[in-house]
Amino acid sequence: MTWENWAGTATADPARRYWPRTVDAIADAVRDAAAGGLTVRALGSGHSFTPVAATDGAAIDLSNWTGIVSVDPDSAMVTVRSGTTLRALNADLDALGLAMPNMGDVDAQTISGAISTGTHGTGAGLGGIATQVAALELVMADGSIVTASAEEAPDLFAAARVSMGALGVISTVTLRCVPAFRLAADERPMPLDEVLNRFGEFAAGNDHFEFFWFPYGHTALVKRNNRIAVMGNGDDGGSSPLPMPEWRRFWEYEVMENGAFGALCRTGRAVPSLGRPLAKLVAATLSSRSYSADSHRVFVTPRRVRFVESEYAVPRESVFGVLADLRDAVSGLGHPVMFPVEVRVAAADDIWLSTAYGRDTAYIAIHQYRGMPYKEYFAAFESIAASVGGRPHWGKLHALGAARFAELYPRFGDFQRVRDEADPERRFANPYLEQVLGG
Ligand SMILES: Cc1cc2nc3c(=O)[nH]c(=O)nc-3n(C[C@H](O)[C@H](O)[C@H](O)COP(=O)(O)OP(=O)(O)OC[C@H]3O[C@@H](n4cnc5c(N)ncnc54)[C@H](O)[C@@H]3O)c2cc1C
Repeated sequence: MTWENWAGTATADPARRYWPRTVDAIADAVRDAAAGGLTVRALGSGHSFTPVAATDGAAIDLSNWTGIVSVDPDSAMVTVRSGTTLRALNADLDALGLAMPNMGDVDAQTISGAISTGTHGTGAGLGGIATQVAALELVMADGSIVTASAEEAPDLFAAARVSMGALGVISTVTLRCVPAFRLAADERPMPLDEVLNRFGEFAAGNDHFEFFWFPYGHTALVKRNNRIAVMGNGDDGGSSPLPMPEWRRFWEYEVMENGAFGALCRTGRAVPSLGRPLAKLVAATLSSRSYSADSHRVFVTPRRVRFVESEYAVPRESVFGVLADLRDAVSGLGHPVMFPVEVRVAAADDIWLSTAYGRDTAYIAIHQYRGMPYKEYFAAFESIAASVGGRPHWGKLHALGAARFAELYPRFGDFQRVRDEADPERRFANPYLEQVLGG
């Protein structure tokens, strides 16, 4: 059965598939594949745009390896099986009065797939999901089971949290969680110039700040989400949730952001000369909304209109120049762009292949409706990002190779040393890893 990712940008025909239900079964699968001379890849939810998970060797599908293994109530550490989706994890954490401190804008990914490519949300003082990891259990190339944390196998830990499945199959992830909390969401259109002038203020003054900008217009949709209450033990922080009414949630997310937007995108794809005016129309209809809800209900937005995406992590102060150059580049494209640019922020971290390694970061993501031309747009963006030392998201489209990554990541050589020790025979290789890490 052919495997295909969410965006339809990668397909593969694994020679063998395994659906383990225990850690020993994961180890058996790795040994069995090795005995058959096959390479091995773990499958997440297929939400990477790059062919990072694709294999024609053995695919280990972890969809039967889910759920919470243990909870330490004092430290709020939660150990979870690697195939658990963020959606299921959030539901289980809710029941425990706990939450992830930050996350991206969808929850379909598995916890192991999310950390393996450096998935992140937004927040100037917060890192990506991999920074929430306190320990990992991995099945190594020889089938042995190893735990990595800051104390135990620290180099493996520094390498493995963002490692694209190159070092082993993650069997469990121990996360540093926080007491469940509510967010007050404020979303409003603003002139792009004002957003850029106040970028530092917005980033520093809000727990989670991001904006969307349709690259033909002068208006951005600014989203600011701030913590208003810690829940649990009957303490609601003195504030009650002000949920968005269900009809409005349905109207705004399902009808406007998915249904109507999808229809406009289909029109732009069928009649490209309408693409530009339609994108401007969408930008002109952006509206304000304020509500509050449990954190994960605010972080997550339904994304039913399929698209392709590229995203670069740039030094925070480079964001202005990159957006100015991007606007110029878009005006010269031979095709319309139907999707907005998304700008987010994250704190510097110390994970060797994290896109935010060693620098406070702005993330700039560009998108295009599936089935419309995008290569010219993405290539122009890539060369703009290259001029400021941009690092591409490991799970989003880019064309960079290992030689460039050796320049972009100060600890790339250390990662390669750990990879050579962990997987000298390249059991976990695939063509994408050959491109980005070398053979
Ligand atoms: C609609 C949409 C929205 C998105 N939103 C965001 C966002 O807000 N922020 C962001 O940063 N990214 C975002 N992404 C990208 C996405 O989060 C990443 O690509 C993520 O890796 C996908 O997780 P997955 O479970 O689908 O993993 P997959 O794409 O299936 O796999 C990713 C990698 O993880 C490896 N892997 C999976 N499980 C294991 C394991 N147990 N052990 C070892 N390796 C493993 C795979 O082999 C592969 O190398 C989005 C993608 C889509 C399609």
